[in-house]
Amino acid sequence: MNIEPLMNDGFDGEPARRVLRYMEGHKEKGHPIVGIYCGYAPIELIYAMGIVPTVLCAFSKAPIPSAEAILPANLCPLIKSSYGFILEGTCPFFSMSSAIIAETTCDGKKKMFELAAQVKPLHVMDLPQLPDEVEALDNWTVMIRKLQGFLEKTYHTKATDQTIETAIQKTNRKNSMMRKFYDYAAIHPPVINWQEMYDVGFLALPSTGDEMIPLLETLLEKLDKRVEQGVHYGSPESPRVLVTGCPVGGDALKIFKIIEAAGGLVVVPDACTGIKAFMGKIEENTPDPVRAIAQRYLEIPCACMTPNDRRLSSLSEMIEKFKPDAVVDFVLTACHSYNVEAYKVGEYVGERHGLPYLKIESDYSDNDEGQIRTKIEALFEILG
Ligand code: SF4
Ligand code: SF4
Repeated sequence: MNIEPLMNDGFDGEPARRVLRYMEGHKEKGHPIVGIYCGYAPIELIYAMGIVPTVLCAFSKAPIPSAEAILPANLCPLIKSSYGFILEGTCPFFSMSSAIIAETTCDGKKKMFELAAQVKPLHVMDLPQLPDEVEALDNWTVMIRKLQGFLEKTYHTKATDQTIETAIQKTNRKNSMMRKFYDYAAIHPPVINWQEMYDVGFLALPSTGDEMIPLLETLLEKLDKRVEQGVHYGSPESPRVLVTGCPVGGDALKIFKIIEAAGGLVVVPDACTGIKAFMGKIEENTPDPVRAIAQRYLEIPCACMTPNDRRLSSLSEMIEKFKPDAVVDFVLTACHSYNVEAYKVGEYVGERHGLPYLKIESDYSDNDEGQIRTKIEALFEILG
């Protein structure tokens, strides 16, 4: 079936070029830009100050050799790629940013940030890693306020409780529409594919509610038409796959491509580059909107947290909704947090949901594509 490109703006399948055009538009208007690397960067606070957040390059194997001149080779490719882009000066989003927001998530990243701080102003937020401790919310609220101070000083701008509240409400609306968008993958067979989810998510992440909501309204109308016309991907027999684990983008997209080439359908990309970025709701109209932001971010089910039981309950919700036939856990080489957690995830999806589970450990190279394909095909054979 020939399916019309979803956004049809000439950038379908090339989300980085679309976002670059979007960022250049902001730059031409003189809007200040700040670089982010992680799902813990509180974008509502950034919007509330009239600053544009941009997600920095981290998903290509190309700059890794440069990074390895300084960083150890046995480090996560995401960290090496991020730093390689900084060293080579080849990330346009980094060049546009006046400063970088960083968080103490995993060890490799936080040590890399010390090196990146030599290149551009960089603010580190101390992330509480035991989110259920009573102090965690107070501490993270303080860190978000400190970030506010840093941004105010660096960008000569201000946020008020009112501008933060407005940003919260608009992001909540954007995120709820994004969840509606992903709902089209829950249909059997799905009405959207992984590339469309990736394309839309890539743009939605840095965009404000005002920018994204009208576009999402059009997209949802288009998708309703697809449903009416019986347009879908794959067939009712195609294996449906939930992909969980580390963020997936650029060269790591091979995991989605291989699943597709083996006849499967990615119906839930569950990572910070997928549906996870749009989950959760920030409480509105509270006396302290910064604390409300802190609360929502502490609930992100990242493997840097301990315990990270929210990941299991969030997986259950996704499994019940998207009805995958199997779970693939994509772990980047040397990402100890996701790798160790994989054991719990595998046991959980098997025991609680009776689903086959496959861990794929890989990096950004294409050397192991054949091996991964064999494993995925074997998984699909079990499904029958
Ligand atoms: S997986 Fe964790 S550390 Fe990585 S981007 Fe997401 S929140 Fe940040
Ligand atoms: S994938 Fe793992 S090791 Fe790599 S930056 Fe994210 S949390 Fe750290």
